[in-house]
Amino acid sequence: MLRRYEQYLEFLEKKLNKFFEAQKPYIFCKEGCSLCCQNAQFPYSLLEVKYLVQGMFELPVETRLKVEDKMIEIIEKRRNFKGERFLYDCPFLINGSCCVYKYRGIVCRAFGLLTKKEEGRTKTPFCCFKGLNYSNIYDEKEKKLSETKMAELGITQEPLAYNVGYPFLTGESVQNAFKLNFGEKKPLIDWFLSEKDKAN
Ligand code: SF4
Ligand code: SF4
Repeated sequence: MLRRYEQYLEFLEKKLNKFFEAQKPYIFCKEGCSLCCQNAQFPYSLLEVKYLVQGMFELPVETRLKVEDKMIEIIEKRRNFKGERFLYDCPFLINGSCCVYKYRGIVCRAFGLLTKKEEGRTKTPFCCFKGLNYSNIYDEKEKKLSETKMAELGITQEPLAYNVGYPFLTGESVQNAFKLNFGEKKPLIDWFLSEKDKAN
């Protein structure tokens, strides 16, 4: 199954590279930018987490210990969390970069693009509001992409929104096409909870 998953990742990577390339005028991803690895939930399926753990075991011992320390810290905070949506920095973010890059999940790969949602709606990546992707054509007052800003940049056509939402990229059509079973999905850190934590 992991081999077929890798084949899917290869296919997906090619598609995403094309999409990012097509959106180049609005993309501000740079090495060292890790805002999208922070303060989030990071949905992961069982299949993705199995692959990620493979990457974890390939890490140098020192790095793996750092990841484990971060996990312990996050799980401790989660234990004491009383709200509805527990957010945290990804434990695989070490010294500002992803230590399991080759093995990272699907949400990590697709994040940053304008995403197509149901009923023709689009979702702008949150880093737009931090002056990053699409911020050069976004009107904060109007809360939408600005035709004026696009015209100023000589852009005549609104950027395409792609069907790259997590539910679609791990959905039924992908599972059927690549003979995959993503299995259960939950926030990344929840896969590393002890039985006792899960019971609480
Ligand atoms: S998607 Fe946004 S937050 Fe993530 S690396 Fe690119 S610019 Fe930075
Ligand atoms: S697995 Fe890597 S890319 Fe994904 S959120 Fe964590 S640090 Fe970022």
